[in-house]
Amino acid sequence: MTWFLAALALTTSLLFLRERLRRLSLRHDLEQLRAKREAMRSVLEHLDEGVFLLGRDLSVYYANPAALHLVAADASAMSSRPNLARVLRNRQILAFAAAIGSGETVRQVVTTPAADGSPMELEVTLAPAGHNRRLMVLRDLRDSARVERKRRDFVANASHELKTPIAALVGLLDLLDVVPAEKHPDLLERARRNANALASMADDLLGLTRAEDPDWRPSPTLTAVGPLIDQILGPILDAAAAKGLQTKVEISLRDPELLVDPVCFETVLRNLAQNAVNYTSAGDVEVRMRDVDESCVALEVSDSGPGIDPKILPRIFERFFRGDPSHSRATGGTGLGLSIVRNLVNRMGGRISVHSNPGRGSEFKVELPRNPARPLGGS
Ligand code: ADP
Repeated sequence: MTWFLAALALTTSLLFLRERLRRLSLRHDLEQLRAKREAMRSVLEHLDEGVFLLGRDLSVYYANPAALHLVAADASAMSSRPNLARVLRNRQILAFAAAIGSGETVRQVVTTPAADGSPMELEVTLAPAGHNRRLMVLRDLRDSARVERKRRDFVANASHELKTPIAALVGLLDLLDVVPAEKHPDLLERARRNANALASMADDLLGLTRAEDPDWRPSPTLTAVGPLIDQILGPILDAAAAKGLQTKVEISLRDPELLVDPVCFETVLRNLAQNAVNYTSAGDVEVRMRDVDESCVALEVSDSGPGIDPKILPRIFERFFRGDPSHSRATGGTGLGLSIVRNLVNRMGGRISVHSNPGRGSEFKVELPRNPARPLGGS
């Protein structure tokens, strides 16, 4: 009897233990499912594309924030599982969603008013989602159209900028055959200037392409900035002295070794200093490098030139923007320098700002992090 009771107690304990283990494993599975669901929801909530999960009768089981934004619907519309017709008004999308069987993937582009009333092209994709449900994905095509327009503008601008010196070069070379020999040196000098402008444009286009390439990264190395600055500024300060400008270089860094990509640093300083000298006809040009705080240094390039009109100030970092195209061309400018500078500064984790007093001069300030792995943010 004692033996029977002991066996019964053991069996009960074992059954109890098995039940506990089963429950634990169920709870673990449930937690994993919950975590997956949360991850999925977070992905959907951050998508730019609008996603609707629809039943066969077009009831809406789920709509992510982008979907509600694209069809200008309120989140409160989703409290009871509404019909799609209550959430979006576009008849073409409704007819498309209603007419398509749940087993196929189909796509259509529809024009519909955006939240601000302007026309918007939406790509609507319907795809099966199991259990007789369907996904409806909405993609706003205005962004791709904008990118495509920017690309076309860039190609058109670059071609125009290249055509100008090429046309001049061809014209000058043609003239060589028809003008007397004593005019040849002058023609050749002008041809050389245009060839140099072409070379600068090609260099800047390559520089810009690299600075904007998402796969390219600067390679920071520990660099003694003093000697590097002297080496970069050498020929530029010679040109400034030849113009009769006063120049000053001041480096006051607690630790003069910086973790920077020397090529990027050179491109940034060369462009800013060259602009300062090119745009200043009298007075001075100064370059300073100093600590801002423990984690940040500043490179400042200032001049007493004509300054920048506040009307064009917001545009000077745009590609191909030139305040005065004939002055810019005459001094070998391409209209790309500041756009390359801003891209590189951002890629180095820094930021750039400009202060200018028309008639009194300009100051460009580049702030760089001492640790490139900790970008400053902004600009
Ligand atoms: P550019 O080749 O024309 O110099 P940038 O991109 O370097 O092209 O500069 C864009 C424009 O910003 C210039 O055309 C000029 O109008 C203005 N700019 C830049 N730096 C200065 C400066 N130091 N003083 C006055 N204007 C400047």
